[in-house]
Amino acid sequence: MAATNSCRPETIFSSPGCEVQYCADCQMVHLNMGALTLRMSEQQFANYAIDISKAMFSLRQREVATTHQPAQYVM
Ligand SMILES: [Zn+2]
Repeated sequence: MAATNSCRPETIFSSPGCEVQYCADCQMVHLNMGALTLRMSEQQFANYAIDISKAMFSLRQREVATTHQPAQYVM
């Protein structure tokens, strides 16, 4: 699925960290992060977004588990 000459990616979201574009021509989502661009289908992008959220949740859970050590001793 190479980019075609008629590619017209439209920016649907942008933040200081990344820019998300959608191309109606090839129906691909472009995720631009600095020098890196990930191109994927809408379905792949949806799965990716869920996976990233799950990874973030997992990371937070890990931080909670490692920083909240019980400080009290039970006699
Ligand atoms: Zn395109």
